[in-house]
Amino acid sequence: MAKFDVVVIGAGAAGMMCAATAAQRGRRVVLIDHASKLAEKIRISGGGRCNFTNINAAPANYLSENPHFCKSALSRYTAADFIALVKKHRIGYHEKHRGQLFCDDSAEQIIDMLKDECSRGDVHWRMPCKVAALQQAPAGLGGFVLQTDQGEIEADSVVIATGGLSIPKIGATDFGYRIAEQFGLRMVAPRPALVPLTFDAQSWAPFVEMAGIALEVDVETGSVKGRNPTGARFREDLLFTHRGLSGPAILQISSYWTPGTPIVINLLPELDLAAALIEAKGTVRKQLGNVLAQWLPARLAEGLLHAHGFAGDARLADMPDAQLRKLGAAINQWTLTPSGSEGYKKAEVTRGGIDTRELSQQSMMATKVPGLYFIGETVDVTGWLGGYNFQWAWASAVAAGISV
Ligand code: FAD
Repeated sequence: MAKFDVVVIGAGAAGMMCAATAAQRGRRVVLIDHASKLAEKIRISGGGRCNFTNINAAPANYLSENPHFCKSALSRYTAADFIALVKKHRIGYHEKHRGQLFCDDSAEQIIDMLKDECSRGDVHWRMPCKVAALQQAPAGLGGFVLQTDQGEIEADSVVIATGGLSIPKIGATDFGYRIAEQFGLRMVAPRPALVPLTFDAQSWAPFVEMAGIALEVDVETGSVKGRNPTGARFREDLLFTHRGLSGPAILQISSYWTPGTPIVINLLPELDLAAALIEAKGTVRKQLGNVLAQWLPARLAEGLLHAHGFAGDARLADMPDAQLRKLGAAINQWTLTPSGSEGYKKAEVTRGGIDTRELSQQSMMATKVPGLYFIGETVDVTGWLGGYNFQWAWASAVAAGISV
């Protein structure tokens, strides 16, 4: 039987970072992954350039049943710490948008960097390797025994870094959740997040033609009475698709969206449309569709008028103010209820996971099961779009890596 101080299961972002940190402290570490290709999610991230952190990352950028949980790890390993590592490896990077840092060349550089950090600590690898069972060692011996398709492994500590359920075709599994269940740890129900939203075919029919249109909007969650119960609001680009809505604005709000409730979109966030139309009434002798097309893409203006029961060729001057106010509200507060999302096959992350009440915020160890750790996306901490999820992966990994 092979013996190690630490077994890390899952060689993705968090797993490699944790293995490297623990191994560089002198711990004997083995890193296991069932995939044959290393860190596919890093490779495809950020459109192939890996948005590896966000310089503004702070606890407010994360969703969790316990919003305080992430504070400790994030404050002890910051975006600046990761940037220092990237610089040490001479990887060129740039800021793209609102603090989002991307590699100049390729996400492969981040994978190579993490591999190199693992080598510096002499991490052992088992990959591809399947873990069939994980048990606590018999009473009195301490530690854990793993059955794998490459033999039995014994270790003092086990770190679960197998991620969430998003993108099953590149190797996502529910392994972490099954281990939590086996050891009696509570879970926050997982669901797809940072995901495009869909609408039923009938209600979406007027908008199908608009697929491909993109524009900057404000988006927020709305309850049936039009309140914003989560307080979440984003100004980002929205993209119309054949089945619904996507783009950064929708991905962001999807993480806060509760099925069955509406979202509210302001398609003209810089303009009070009703006021502008009423003012234009006296001076502009144009048709409504043409007036609206000053501010919105013409195809979208036409589709929106049709969907809300307005005739595009109506003369603005003939329209009662009450009608213009109704149109203004329809566009400044477009309220619509998604029927669902594109699900795990398109979701960038999984919301929910191991309930943080089961874990130490300093070390990420399960308080009921000494020696068992959960890091990265397995845990109920989910970041916004924009490098926040990788920053959580690095920070939670380091918290565990200095503790195991
Ligand atoms: P992962 O990186 O998913 O790693 C989990 C590892 O566990 C994988 O290697 C997997 O093969 C392995 N594994 C799973 N099950 C088992 C098992 N049963 N046995 C053994 N091994 C197993 N976040 C950002 O911050 N910036 C971005 O630019 C960004 N872009 C993204 C783009 C896409 C398309 C997607 C899907 C996600 C993106 N994310 C991005 C999110 C980010 O990739 C994840 O939050 C992050 O990878 C989570 O790290 P992790 O180590 O917890 O899990």
